[in-house]
Amino acid sequence: MAEPVLDAKNITKSFGRHVVLHDMSLCVERGELISIIGPSGCGKSTFLRCLNFLEIPDSGSIRVEDVEIQKASGQGWNRAQEHRAHALRAHVGMVFQSFNLFAHRTVLDNVMLAPRSVKGQAHKEIEPQARALLAKVGLDGMAERYPATLSGGQQQRAAIARALAMKPAVMLYDEPTSALDPELAEEVLQVMRTLDDEGMTQIVVTHDMRFARAASDRVLYVEKGQIVESGESETLFSAPEDPRTRRFLRTLL
Ligand code: ADP
Ligand code: MG
Repeated sequence: MAEPVLDAKNITKSFGRHVVLHDMSLCVERGELISIIGPSGCGKSTFLRCLNFLEIPDSGSIRVEDVEIQKASGQGWNRAQEHRAHALRAHVGMVFQSFNLFAHRTVLDNVMLAPRSVKGQAHKEIEPQARALLAKVGLDGMAERYPATLSGGQQQRAAIARALAMKPAVMLYDEPTSALDPELAEEVLQVMRTLDDEGMTQIVVTHDMRFARAASDRVLYVEKGQIVESGESETLFSAPEDPRTRRFLRTLL
């Protein structure tokens, strides 16, 4: 079997005395679409942020492609590790609930910014790529617009194009549709389905159970900073094994 794209082992994280993640592990095969579900405050965002070291875990190891970072508990965070984290983040695209586009830049500039500044690519090389990405997410004709003139769904699709511009090996989404009306959310989910069809590896924290069930290969149910259950999506929704998963799914009915 091919090597997993992302392998996170035994991730723990506390804020002060509050243990938020207890020993969470996740191994992701190339091309998988994984949904992470669970009650508010259970640690979904913190876990996702740990996967690209936006949040530094207290202990555990994470490998993405050829970059591996180990964190022993009690050990500080040094410049060498930050350097590795930077290399790891280059393989990971991240999309947030609130889009986080640069308001004073056009959509095209938003998409070109990272390849230009981080990878130092020439403008004439990246502009056609950026325009192609905008077309892929259904935003052809919107390149010269400013984010504030777009709908939320369009802004989120621009944010996805911006993340894709770095050619990530894996995309992370933290509630990408929670701020959107249903029909705008659907446009965003459609882009994610298309990326899945093309073989992109994606991990999505979502409250959209219909999407989690229909589009994911695998679903993780998280409660109190632990992966309670992980399984093939249809199985987890139709025949959850853990009583905690059953209870959570019942509350959604
Ligand atoms: P979820 O995304 O599942 O709603 P979070 O990962 O945002 O949960 O939060 C998990 C827990 O960690 C919550 O109790 C939250 O209050 C706490 N938390 C998250 N970020 C911080 C932080 N920067 N400082 C202190 N506590 C935090
Ligand atoms: Mg969250």
